[in-house]
Amino acid sequence: MSRPHLQVLPGYGEAEREPYVAFCGHCAKRPAPGDAENRVCSSCHLGLIVSAPESIAPRPGDAFLIVDGRMQICALSRKAEKLLGAGESDIVNRTLTEVVHPADAEAAGVESLVSMVVHAARGDGVVRDLVVRPCDEWGIRWFTRVGPCGTPQAALLVLAPDG
Ligand SMILES: [Zn+2]
Repeated sequence: MSRPHLQVLPGYGEAEREPYVAFCGHCAKRPAPGDAENRVCSSCHLGLIVSAPESIAPRPGDAFLIVDGRMQICALSRKAEKLLGAGESDIVNRTLTEVVHPADAEAAGVESLVSMVVHAARGDGVVRDLVVRPCDEWGIRWFTRVGPCGTPQAALLVLAPDG
């Protein structure tokens, strides 16, 4: 429908950097070029406009979380609320590891999740894959992509429920 708004964030000292696209931190709608200066989404009026590398930026309907470098959840999509079975107000400001754990915690430990999020929140451009589960459920696994997100600098986790 609308063309993605491409935005290159300067200042990381990397010559080759994947273009960032802007999207709403709640509904994932991409702002129209004329709306690029708005901080708040003009579609749902709930989310702040953030940006992430094109290859990980979510689409409307995706389940995603935005987590800061202190592991605190800043925002999430409606689909993520559904997956986690809790509303935004119950999840925002909680620590990520209170909500999800790596699915193979014995092999990798919670530290693997923490380290991925902290690196991504520092602006590390590498997108990593991980499998997580809700903290209180062992039978559920969500394939998850973890990558950087801005501004403010944070990590983006896009969950893909497997059937
Ligand atoms: Zn929105």
